[in-house]
Amino acid sequence: PRPADPDNSIRLTDNDAAIARLSAVNKQYISDPFIKSLVPRAHLQPSRPPLINIGTHVRTTAIDDLVQQWVQISSQTGQTCQIVSLGAGSDTRYWRLATGPHKNMISAYIEIDFMENTTKKIMAIRKSKELSAVVGPEARLALGGTALHSSVYHLLPADLRETPATALAPLITIADDSSKLCLDPSIPTLLLFECVLVYMSPESSSTLIQWFSDYFSKLPQHAPLGAIVYEMFGLEDSFGRVMINNLKARNVTLPGAAPYPTVESLPSRFLNLKFTAANALTLRVIRNRYIAPQELDRIAKLEFLDEVEELDLVLEHYAITWSIMLPVNAKADPAWG
Ligand code: SAM
Repeated sequence: PRPADPDNSIRLTDNDAAIARLSAVNKQYISDPFIKSLVPRAHLQPSRPPLINIGTHVRTTAIDDLVQQWVQISSQTGQTCQIVSLGAGSDTRYWRLATGPHKNMISAYIEIDFMENTTKKIMAIRKSKELSAVVGPEARLALGGTALHSSVYHLLPADLRETPATALAPLITIADDSSKLCLDPSIPTLLLFECVLVYMSPESSSTLIQWFSDYFSKLPQHAPLGAIVYEMFGLEDSFGRVMINNLKARNVTLPGAAPYPTVESLPSRFLNLKFTAANALTLRVIRNRYIAPQELDRIAKLEFLDEVEELDLVLEHYAITWSIMLPVNAKADPAWG
């Protein structure tokens, strides 16, 4: 038999993310009418524990909020924006945005993942009326059915650890139309790294982020480039070691977590690569300071949580970093800068 592909376990982390999302939707922590179409046999999937549902709620609410701010900041300058989701897996954010109040403000939404995952997602999109209706009738397959292009939505296969010039080539030209620029550096662009950079070496992540920062800064009057990262961090303590060992048991390693032992160290990932400003907060702080009290009350009534102390410990080990790179002489927006 052939040795198992070690990347398989990395690709499978998407199943966990999608099932956690489905669970949080079924238990009414968050609302997402699209996730059920992306999870095979959705009605048979077991719920996740309350602690995981709460984590999914905080993470989703915080990232949704930052994305919404980004779209609004862009629209105030009279521009549409582009969003690039790296390691997008079964994420539904495109469908939620494309059916929400900001749908006309997004000119391109590009998702990238391993070829096996993009192929699976394309099949789920084609199977689901809801998903294909939003993508639009003009959607067409490319690269042997591993890529999909529509007027706004693009799904592209790549191994993000490869040299970005190769891995991201389809980003610059739409697969079979080399005259068309897919990623336009004159349009405000947001990069999303939701639970993906921990699976890559710090060198690969830096090279990848650097590619985007070079691609934008080559144009002197480039548009703002923003980034949001959601990830585990600070895994050197005893709780962190338990998290690492649980994943190791499933063949998943976290080469990307080591350089960021504290939440204060997370912004350096961007500040070292020409980004103008960066902030990071743990999910515990986000939950305590930024989620409205009425929303916390609503969540508290959904399920009984007996692991109250463990909840803080888990939320302490996840963080969201957001960062922006502005052209020289541009003024920062207070929400992002
Ligand atoms: N971003 C989605 C979310 O938050 O729901 C999925 C997160 S899942 C934990 C991690 C995803 O990153 C998987 O779909 C995996 O295939 C993808 N991924 C990890 N390393 C990658 C790489 N080197 N190239 C492309 N995709 C990668």
